[in-house]
Formats: sequence, structure tokens, C-alpha cells
Amino acid sequence: MSSILEYKCPNCASDIKFDSSSQKFRCESCDAEFSEQELNEIHDFEENFGEGTEYKWESAQNNEEMTGMNEYICQSCAAHLAVDETTAAGECPYCGSPVIMNGQLSGMNTPDCVIPFKLDKKAAGEALKAFCKGKPLLPSNFVSDNKIKEMKGVYVPFWLFDCDADANIVYDATKVRHWSDSNYNYTETRHYNVYRSGNIGFANIPVDGSSKMDDAYMDGIEPYNYADMTDFNPGYLLGYMADKYDVDAEKSFPRAEARVTQSTEDAFRSTVHGYTTVVPKMTNVKADGGKYRYALLPVWILNTKYNGENFMFAVNGQMGKVSGKLPIDKKKFWLFFGGIAAAIIALGQFFIF
Ligand SMILES: [Zn+2]
Ligand SMILES: [Zn+2]
Repeated sequence: MSSILEYKCPNCASDIKFDSSSQKFRCESCDAEFSEQELNEIHDFEENFGEGTEYKWESAQNNEEMTGMNEYICQSCAAHLAVDETTAAGECPYCGSPVIMNGQLSGMNTPDCVIPFKLDKKAAGEALKAFCKGKPLLPSNFVSDNKIKEMKGVYVPFWLFDCDADANIVYDATKVRHWSDSNYNYTETRHYNVYRSGNIGFANIPVDGSSKMDDAYMDGIEPYNYADMTDFNPGYLLGYMADKYDVDAEKSFPRAEARVTQSTEDAFRSTVHGYTTVVPKMTNVKADGGKYRYALLPVWILNTKYNGENFMFAVNGQMGKVSGKLPIDKKKFWLFFGGIAAAIIALGQFFIF
């Protein structure tokens, strides 16, 4: 146990001194005052704080090899796709290039769970049309019914993480006050350390296991409703493609951990009120006994070329949310902005008169 005089100021880490007039310990640098009990409590909290974050994950997978499927490989982007033996795969959903049959599927585990497709191709097409509607700069007929027929239903591989997180977080918070007298404006900034400890349970944190499926697209079509998730059965794959994962669970740990840490900081943050600013200063999250499973989530993908450029759209095959980049028709761009400029000039003249 170190002497209390070896403690540093919890606010600014400068030396503290006992001040006989206030009977408290005082920081000479930031003027903060602490009782002996306060200093001991803060010291104990920081001693037990632990370093950074610590996660431990165990597999909850079945580890059975999937059989009875064919494997197709895209010659252009190298996507590996599992397709049932009665279905023929024509084009790669990710880049639109032809795919080549590579024989029987091997080296892919049976998924542990699946959210089955809920939207059929027609419903996904409607969602995509609604997404494009009212975008004035979009080329006419950019998503035609013919294009929508080429949409592919793909089960995208995901790692789903569950854990209980024990966390300690220190926030650096301030209260700022402004006032004036006849000579000066004053600003007073008070600094506070805000301590929070607690436990949060997480279920089904999704991390995408396919390098072909851009994270930005997946983030854009989340969330899925996990209430519909069910044990895997090969029957769900009939008529669809399943992307074979190429990002293994271990490589997905950092993304899962970043999501848990961020969500914990946000949840604890929502209990800190009454300050001008609040910034996490130290975060310590421990999660032992976290588990992960291998899941398939349904996505409708449309690849379309416009002016020689590829555009991809993803539609959440359960909830219908769409993400994708839209091209801009240059002619329409000038018509649109030309129209605004003309309107402004007209208004200007109107007001001058
Ligand atoms: Zn200080
Ligand atoms: Zn491809």
C-alpha cells in the first residue's frame, strides 16, 4: 500500500499536497481538492482497473462438414459459392462474371443456424425500386424489371458472437460556465472523472465472414431480426447460393470486440448526465466465456453495369433494407442544377423589381 502522498491528482496527474486550512488534499496544478477517503476510493478503483480490454472466445460450432453440394468459383473475383446439386449457378453475385463449377463442395462446415429468406425476388425488387425512386439524378430506367430478374439470392456467412462483458470505464467530463462583467468575459471549465462499473450481456453480434461482401453494404442493410433465426437445414439453400466463408472466426474477433467495447461505452455513457462534455478516458472490458457460431444471413444482390462501371446493390432478404451506390446521370445533373440556378436568377430578378 503506497502512502497517500504518493498519489497523483486524479484529474491531471500532478502532485498533491495536504492543505491544513481545508483539511483536504489539494492539487497545485488544477486546484482540485479531495478528502482522504475520496483519494483512497479513486486509488482502489484505478488499482483494480486492469489494462485495456480482454476477451476470450470459444467455438460453439458443430464442426460437421457440409456435403451434397456443388462448389462454383468466380474466375474474376475468386468468390467460392456453394450451390445445391439441382441448381445451376450462372453468374457471380458479387461481380457479375461467369462462374465455373469446381466439383463437389469440400472444406465448408455445416452452418449452425440460418435466418431464412423472407422476401422473394419480386419483393426485393420492389424494395430496390422504392430505394431508387425520387432520386432526381438517377439515369432513367436504371433498375428495369429485366435487371431485377437477374437478382441473386445469396446466403452470406456470418460469425455470431455472444458474451457477458464486465466493464469499468472512466469518463473525462467537463462543466463549462460563461459569465461577463463590464470588463471581461469569463469561462470556467471544471473537470470531473466519472466512474462507471457494470455488466452487459450481448447476443448475436454479427461479423461478416466473407471478404467478397463489402462491410459497408452489410452495415447498410442491418439489422436482422434474430427472432426468426433457426437451426440450419440444407433445405433452406434450395434455389439460393451460399457464400463459402473466407474470413475465419479468429480473424473476426477484433471486429466483434470493437463492437462490444463501443456498445458498452455508449451504454454506460447514457447513464452520465449533467456535463458539457463527456469523453471515455480509460476503458476496461473483460469478457470470459464468449461464444461464437457460424450463421447464414439472406441477402439479395443485384449487379448492374452503367457506362462501363459496375454498381452493386444489396437488399436485406428478411427485412427489406437496401444499400448501394447510385450513379449520377451527368445530363440530368446539369438540368437539375441548371434548373436551380435559373430559379435563383428568376427569384433574384423578382426581388429586384
Ligand atoms: Zn490536478
Ligand atoms: Zn465474382
